[in-house]
Amino acid sequence: MKIFLDGKLVEKGEAKISVFDHGFLYGDGIFEGIRVYNGRVFRLKEHLERLWSSAKAINLEIPIHKKEMEKALIKTILANKLNDAYIRLIVTRGCGDLGLDPRNCTKPPSVIIIADQIKMYPEEFYEKGMEIVTVSTRRIRQDSLSPNIKSLNYLNNILAKMQAVRSGAAEAIMLNAEGYVVECTGDNIFIVKNGILYTPAGSEGALIGITRDAVIELAKNKSGVPVKEVRLSLYEVYTADECFLTGTAAEIVPVVAVDSRIIGDGKPGKITAKLIKEFKALARSSGTPIK
Ligand SMILES: *Cc1c(COP(=O)(O)O)cnc(C)c1O
Repeated sequence: MKIFLDGKLVEKGEAKISVFDHGFLYGDGIFEGIRVYNGRVFRLKEHLERLWSSAKAINLEIPIHKKEMEKALIKTILANKLNDAYIRLIVTRGCGDLGLDPRNCTKPPSVIIIADQIKMYPEEFYEKGMEIVTVSTRRIRQDSLSPNIKSLNYLNNILAKMQAVRSGAAEAIMLNAEGYVVECTGDNIFIVKNGILYTPAGSEGALIGITRDAVIELAKNKSGVPVKEVRLSLYEVYTADECFLTGTAAEIVPVVAVDSRIIGDGKPGKITAKLIKEFKALARSSGTPIK
């Protein structure tokens, strides 16, 4: 496996960064998860825009231009001979001293691109649906840290994930400080009730996922399913007809039980299945070609 590290493609074993990099010391850095389907990078422009927005928000200057990043990304995919892939794009704060102050980071930010393959959940979950639970770990308040900064610090989400796993579920519903549903640990959440698709609004503290956006567009424009971005309570999730999660790594995964409440008839819903089909078709046919 070849990794892109600061302008060069290096072997996996050689892809190393300093222990003084603030990305390592403090989670001071940003990332994107991007998928390649059928030789096409899905929503590349949107991912790069979000990366640049994350950088802007933490006052980090990405050392290369967007066009160079795009070239580096495609070069890395080609070097690994991948036609379908999961790409991890990372920009760290760079090497500093043991203090927090990024001004003491003398080495410029590191740019790392890993092209690999991952499946977030077992295949069975995609076919039969998954069971998830609500955890007590609340999502960090957005007035403290915007969920839209995809930072290298995921402890909040990791603690929630560990809690879910401890209770035998693969994924956790996280609530905001007010106790309303926000999202899962790395996925956005949707429910269907009486033919309408609902998802927590950005104002609830949900990250505006790129997969979430694609699903909203497909529902509105292709399936004729109305979409509402709302404040969502657990009651509404428990009594939903359908439920599913979206994310670049997870793609679209049906949910059939939440906190032991069976959702709908306990099988992946019809609208969910339709959206999965449409998403697959969109992902395979749109996107930036790598050749
Ligand atoms: C990245 C992420 C998502 C999903 O966003 P996509 O753009 O669809 O990959 C959802 N929640 C969290 C916390 C995330 O980090």
